[in-house]
Amino acid sequence: MLARSEPGCQAMPWRRELSTALTRPEELIGLLDLDPGLLPAARAAARKFGLLVPRGYAALMARSEPHDPLLRQVLPLAEELHGPPGFTTDPVGERAAVLLPGLLRKYQGRALLLLTGACALHCRYCFRRHFPYANDSAQPDRAAGAIARLAADASIHEVILSGGDPLMWDDEPLAVLIGRLAEIPHLQRLRLHTRLPIVLPSRVTARLCHSLRTSRLRPIVVVHTNHARELGAAARDALARLHGAGVMLLNQSVLLRGVNDSAGRLAALSEALFECAVLPYYLHLLDRVLGAAHFELDETAAIRLLARLRTRLPGYLVPRLVKEIAGEPYKIPIER
Ligand SMILES: *Cc1c(COP(=O)(O)O)cnc(C)c1O
Ligand code: SF4
Repeated sequence: MLARSEPGCQAMPWRRELSTALTRPEELIGLLDLDPGLLPAARAAARKFGLLVPRGYAALMARSEPHDPLLRQVLPLAEELHGPPGFTTDPVGERAAVLLPGLLRKYQGRALLLLTGACALHCRYCFRRHFPYANDSAQPDRAAGAIARLAADASIHEVILSGGDPLMWDDEPLAVLIGRLAEIPHLQRLRLHTRLPIVLPSRVTARLCHSLRTSRLRPIVVVHTNHARELGAAARDALARLHGAGVMLLNQSVLLRGVNDSAGRLAALSEALFECAVLPYYLHLLDRVLGAAHFELDETAAIRLLARLRTRLPGYLVPRLVKEIAGEPYKIPIER
């Protein structure tokens, strides 16, 4: 068996922090003084998709508050165990877009490189909760094939590193990958889709910022925040470091019942993001993934919510409401 971290090896602080993340429902429920009656269902649902919450993120949650909007994103519930019709394991048709293991080209000019299936936090609504990562993520040694494929396709101008979470890769292999990508002349932009600056802010290291700042490729980081309270002091500092490194910062959210389904909460999120130099980009309708039906808000309610948001905020703080339809050439804007 291969030891993932050798004893005596100098682990990065973020790796150490991740190794102490909460993984057992009883830990989270105990820590937050929640009703132990939640435990049996939490255990059952966590067997299908494990619980994972960094302690720093859990510290942002209110105690004894089962409806806390941060808690709701991570606590496995009995509702996950019933799958109403229409909710499936591959709602966005990603498996069909796979070019090579770990490389997806669904949209023109952009290619998505899935670096890993791992994340620092498990979002219960995740559309990839059933994705077969074991086969489909680019391990560092396999990225060579993806790079050759990108180099051979001059129509691609932007590479999106995604996953899972691409920042689960260590700084060194990531720096090597970014260097290889920068050698491909037709690539102009490097985008990272990551939730780590929010849920594990210590991941934004000086080395990472250096790799992004010094690359020939224009760096864009799309973070994933659903509620203003996720932007604690540490996350704000992490975003400031990225901003200081010249990274264009955008945010995507998923519209989630019980988390951010009011104009007040969405407005507070946009304002808080702007304070961190992050512009709201997308607000996704929930992908209809099996186990996430209890988060869904219907399209009509979503459109009404966006109309209310537009009356409260300048246009640049209103995210685009979109949904993904398998086989369509871009994310579909929801018009009113
Ligand atoms: C969302 C997504 C993109 C990027 O779409 P943009 O509209 O450019 O943000 C690219 N590839 C895949 C597979 C996606 O799901
Ligand atoms: S961070 Fe993204 S990929 Fe990871 S569990 Fe959450 S939604 Fe899924």
